[in-house]
Amino acid sequence: MQLSKRQEDIVNIAKENGPITGEEIASTLNLARATLRPDLSFLTMAGVLEARPKVGYYYTGKGISNVIGEVLKQKKVNEIQGLPVAVNEETSVYDAIVTLFLEDVGTLFVVDNQNILKGVVSRKDFLKITLGDNDLNKLPIGIIMTRSPNVITVKDSDSALLAAKKIQEFQIDCLPVLGKDNDKIDDELVGRISKTHLIKIIAEIDI
Ligand code: ADP
Repeated sequence: MQLSKRQEDIVNIAKENGPITGEEIASTLNLARATLRPDLSFLTMAGVLEARPKVGYYYTGKGISNVIGEVLKQKKVNEIQGLPVAVNEETSVYDAIVTLFLEDVGTLFVVDNQNILKGVVSRKDFLKITLGDNDLNKLPIGIIMTRSPNVITVKDSDSALLAAKKIQEFQIDCLPVLGKDNDKIDDELVGRISKTHLIKIIAEIDI
């Protein structure tokens, strides 16, 4: 990832003259302070500059290389999660496949009637079961799901970076998000975070 020409100029000014205020950087570049605001906040978020109140900006000595990591670290799962699509353990595999298509997701979550997570079922689990000679209308989804406690989850207060690391480490597409909804129980299913949610944050990084 590369800095824009203006961001490079700002970094060079901070390197040579830091700590330096935003106004001073702006006047060196003959620009209005407001024009620089997005660049200064990006460089601060990326960890290239640090802002000390009443002192100004200074160069941290860190490059830009881990900007994606910094952005993912600052975002919380509950800022980017989607709605979970869940069925119960008795749902037939046939009905679950229909739900998968209707809801346009790749992974279904399985919950009990208190909305506590019991398992997950992915596309490959469905494909595997359709290879055998099974009556999909009679087979409950509980038979084919990956069952808790083997399900990898995140909390809604975790960072997006932790979600990305778990998805990568366990080679899965999607994580159930657990949290306390209305002061209920800890294991309640409150969201879903997929590779697509994480890609969206990266695509929105504005440099
Ligand atoms: P796909 O089937 O589309 O390749 P995944 O790679 O996510 O989807 O799933 C692969 C396997 O991992 C499946 O058996 C699935 O049940 C299991 N799995 C999916 N998500 C999780 C999770 N969050 N925790 C544990 N196992 C999971």
